[in-house]
Amino acid sequence: MSKWEQTTLYRRLRPRVLRRDRYTCQECGYRDPSGKTLETHHTVARATGGQHSMDTLVTLCRSCHKRHTDVLVATLATARRAASRKPVERHPGIKE
Ligand SMILES: [Zn+2]
Repeated sequence: MSKWEQTTLYRRLRPRVLRRDRYTCQECGYRDPSGKTLETHHTVARATGGQHSMDTLVTLCRSCHKRHTDVLVATLATARRAASRKPVERHPGIKE
């Protein structure tokens, strides 16, 4: 699926997801009937191959969405740090 198709699908799905979740944040219960302060969150991150569909999208308010994004960013950063960490070698000059 092209990026353009993804975006189009997302725009079409977003109001349906908001309606399905009754314009309520699925985490803290915050409700906004206008939907303006609500966002749709991918339960399967796009970075790990998540596709746009009603099943992978959930309604979240901005602050809950931000928390999710922060956690994802922190997880990725930790994974990168762990991958680049080299085993500590004993200094060759140190004698027992
Ligand atoms: Zn919330």
